[in-house]
Amino acid sequence: MNVFLQRVLLWCGVVGCLFLARPVTAASLEFSGELHPGMAVLMHVREFPPGARFVGKLDQESFPITPQGVGIVALDMERQPKSVTLQVVVTPPGGAPETLTRTLSVPKRQYQEERIDLPKKKVDLDQPDMSRATRETETINAALKIREGRTGFEKGFRQPATGRFSGVFGSQRILNGQPRKRHNGVDIAATKGTPVTVIAPGTVILAGQDYFFTGNTLLVHHGHGVISLYAHLDKMLVRQGEWLEAGTTLGTIGMTGRATGPHLHWGVLVRGARVDPMALPGIRP
Ligand SMILES: [Zn+2]
Repeated sequence: MNVFLQRVLLWCGVVGCLFLARPVTAASLEFSGELHPGMAVLMHVREFPPGARFVGKLDQESFPITPQGVGIVALDMERQPKSVTLQVVVTPPGGAPETLTRTLSVPKRQYQEERIDLPKKKVDLDQPDMSRATRETETINAALKIREGRTGFEKGFRQPATGRFSGVFGSQRILNGQPRKRHNGVDIAATKGTPVTVIAPGTVILAGQDYFFTGNTLLVHHGHGVISLYAHLDKMLVRQGEWLEAGTTLGTIGMTGRATGPHLHWGVLVRGARVDPMALPGIRP
């Protein structure tokens, strides 16, 4: 073998090795923000091969990703890990799967305390009120299990109503001197009849009439287990099963259920994780 041929073969070997050492695709992950306890972020898979399939995992829990490479990940308000590991397996059509891994550090989050005084009957429930409230809670919890369906969260979210923020997310509630659960939403106080619009396109999965705690209650599923809750409504203007486009007015602010004045209680869950609605992507620039 002459020297020239030897060199050519050597170079082919080196170039071949470089080629093999390269990642299978140029895919990468992009996030809409930092992940804090009680927060949701949008995740985009960028530069993926056409037709690729995705599987997402946040620590041990898997999460769905749209064919366009969009997913949403969240931490429940009470979860305070130092960091979480996020993995996305990208499988090109007919190609080998590639795993993209990111470790996200999670800052600590402090919550406030909030004292509220209510009529005794509304805090210490008698037997009929208790069994009614339990039934209604079960109906809500059953609806919150939904994961499948048309998605509408990909472009982010919009605030459902304007008004005075009368209750913040995560505050430890002291009702008539007794410590209760943390506040799992935000309260927006405004005059009765103020329109409430859906925060993103989605399907109405529950229209509950005059519930003991939450009054007239709407739940909207935005796909992938992302659910928004609108409570204490005066009027409900949509029906269960209806698909709502962005900006649809779904009801009006009221004080049905356990409320001390007209306000919207607005909650958001991401596959069961309670997140701060005001920290959703798109709500605050
Ligand atoms: Zn509230």
